Parts: sequence; structure tokens; C-alpha cells
Amino acid sequence: MTEHGATKILHVLRNNFSIPQWADAPKDVFQVLIMTVLSQATADRNMERAFRGLSKRFPITPKSLADARVEEIEVAIRVAGLYRNKSKVIKEVSRLILEKFGGSLDFIYSLPFEESRKTLISLPGVGPKTADVVLLFCAGKPTLPVDTHVNRVSKRLRLVSPNADYEGVRGALQSVYSPKDYLPVHLLLISLGRRYCKARNPLCKPCPVNTLCPSRQVEK
Ligand code: SF4
Repeated sequence: MTEHGATKILHVLRNNFSIPQWADAPKDVFQVLIMTVLSQATADRNMERAFRGLSKRFPITPKSLADARVEEIEVAIRVAGLYRNKSKVIKEVSRLILEKFGGSLDFIYSLPFEESRKTLISLPGVGPKTADVVLLFCAGKPTLPVDTHVNRVSKRLRLVSPNADYEGVRGALQSVYSPKDYLPVHLLLISLGRRYCKARNPLCKPCPVNTLCPSRQVEK
């Protein structure tokens, strides 16, 4: 896909989906990290319910979650799926943030991008996607997180090669879009994936970018 094609796709997406207002609002880095851990392999609404459940029981701070019993965290986030594993990760990551960084992830604002990314990824349960979400949404760093929708949709649109891995997809998208568009591209590809470019049965006929898509299925 040329840069021109990529720009056209972004233009059509901007005309068809809105960017949620919360995207630009200031966010608590630790809370975004916990939400992203909760969101792994589950639908957004389950993540939101689990986060609400956790917030009702505990202040969402490294200190309180490091002190919490794993069993109590499990009860609070049961709806999130993989809750046993996620509860252990939440407690452990909280403990380490407290121990190694004095209970604050504010280093993401001051350290150079690659260094903050590496430091985040060194924490348990924090992979490249979680680190990229935190860095982009909280600190406006130049990275484009690749979730399951971004991965599928960008491959179908041939914005990236079908065999690309996480870093391949991220790198290819970052090379065709300007850093100021990373946040909208991330959010708009997710909207397209949820509404039209579904994993099993993509709705190509009503899809707003179907004339630009090499994977379009004409009968659908
Ligand atoms: S035309 Fe079909 S495959 Fe292409 S982006 Fe739209 S829904 Fe996905």
C-alpha cells in the first residue's frame, strides 16, 4: 500500500467514525496499565466491568494492589476471563512498581521512548502492546499499538504484509502514517474491525473503505 492509499483510508475512516473524547483526556498511567492487563483476551465491556469491580474494592494504586490478597483481586475481576492469571500479574506488577520505581510510572514522561518501552516490557504481564498503549495514550509517545483488530484489518487492507509479526505491523503502519495520526489510526482501525471488518464474517458490502480494499469479498 502506498502512502497515498493509506492517507485515503484514514480520510474515509475519519469521515465514518468518531474518535472518543476520552482519547485525549489526561490519564493515570498505572490505571491504564491495569486496564490493559485486564483487557487481554477479553471483550472491552468485560474489561470495563472488571475494572469497575476492582475500583470498588481497592484504590487503583500500586500500594493498595500490592497489599491486596490475590483471592480478593480474583473475586473483583472474575468477569475479565483468565482472572486467576491476571490477578497474580496485577499483584506482582504492583509490587515491582512499588519496589523498583517508588510506586510511580512517571518515568514514561522523562525517559527516552525506547528506554521507557523496554522498562515497561520488563514488568510481568506487560508485553509490547500494553507498553505501547500506555506510552501512546498517557504520554503521547510516537508508537502505534497493534491489537487484534489493528492486526487483522491492516493486513486485509494490505497496509502491511500478511505475514508481519507485531513489530512488523507496528513498523509498517508507523512508516505510512505520521506520528500525529498514530492515535486516530489505532482507534479508527479498531472501530472498522468491530463494525465491519469482523474476524469471521467481514461485512464488505457496507464497509466504507471497500473500494480501497484488496481483500473485499464482493458477495458480502
Ligand atoms: S472491504 Fe471487507 S475485508 Fe476490506 S476492510 Fe472492509 S470489511 Fe474488511
